Amino acid sequence: MTKLVPQPGIMDIALYVSGESTLAGRSDVLKLSANENPAGCSDKAREAFTRAAHSLHRYPNTDHAALRTAIAEVHGLDAGRIICGVGSDEVLQFVAQAYAGPGDEVITTQHGFSMYPILARAVGATPVEVPEKNRKIDVDAILAALTPRTRIVFVANPANPTGTYLEKDEVLRLAAGLPETVVLVHDGAYTEFVDGFDGGAALTDQFPNVIMTRTFSKIYGLGGLRIGWGYAARPVIDVLNRLRQPFNLSEPQMAAAEAAVRDTEFTARCQSENAKWRHWLREALLGHGLECDESHANFVLARFHDAQTAKDCDAALRADGIIVRAVAGYQLPNALRITVGDEAACRRVAHGIGQFLAGRA
Ligand SMILES: *Cc1c(COP(=O)(O)O)cnc(C)c1O
Repeated sequence: MTKLVPQPGIMDIALYVSGESTLAGRSDVLKLSANENPAGCSDKAREAFTRAAHSLHRYPNTDHAALRTAIAEVHGLDAGRIICGVGSDEVLQFVAQAYAGPGDEVITTQHGFSMYPILARAVGATPVEVPEKNRKIDVDAILAALTPRTRIVFVANPANPTGTYLEKDEVLRLAAGLPETVVLVHDGAYTEFVDGFDGGAALTDQFPNVIMTRTFSKIYGLGGLRIGWGYAARPVIDVLNRLRQPFNLSEPQMAAAEAAVRDTEFTARCQSENAKWRHWLREALLGHGLECDESHANFVLARFHDAQTAKDCDAALRADGIIVRAVAGYQLPNALRITVGDEAACRRVAHGIGQFLAGRA
């Protein structure tokens, strides 16, 4: 028996469960459970990654200057206010480590991303979950939950797994309603799927307590590379950089990400394909009598009559070689989250669901 005692909060962490990618005995599996890009990544990113393999004996740059410059140029931002991390998850972790600790409260929302309470508990803080309104973030509920112990508020916009979007004036109302001592994390993992959205970048100019996070895992199709970034006022970035390991990102990672962000043609193509098939898939689900909010991300949330039907449909799809994401753990037991794949994928999953429902009727 070990006498070692971990820090407070750590044993309260429920291990993160990721989307499955294989089914026993099947080679034709269609994975629509992790919001991956059906087009893969930019060819230019893959080429840059391969080129970088020639210098694996060299330590990487510690300041990420080339990547930060590329991000800043493409998005019209200040490179000095960008921090890069091992996925946006690492940037979110820096925020939790920097600004919350034992006795502090971290606000998350009812259907919010499951990493947020994990990050809060990892630093000994207490996650406080507030209700949403019809699967959408409720600014008033967040403001009502503030206490003198509140240190961080985590929201994803568009949100995962609901796909809903909080309008600009509502985000502004949230930011303006928080004390200046509370960090607002605006997680923009799905920013690029919303036409003309800046992901909350402008908000960080106005509010020195707002941090925007972004990722290369979704529209850039580089989830396997593990790279993300954050944007905030310079003093906040200076704090987060103190927690960052100097060599957190490898040269192949940075080279691929830089090429990916500069390949705006690939990103634009993925955005329009996603919008087209997301619309098609939602219409198909509605046509099958399911409920489905309009999604602003690269997945849709199909809502069934009850939890058992959702469960049975999940099983039927699996038997068909299709993996979607059950989201009962997000207080959505009636629902399945389905990544928007390419045309064939959308048609296959819509057909599978149609067959399942027809078999029940
Ligand atoms: C996918 C996702 C991320 C991205 O995580 P990475 O660590 O960058 O892969 C962040 N937030 C939300 C809400 C997500 O769905």
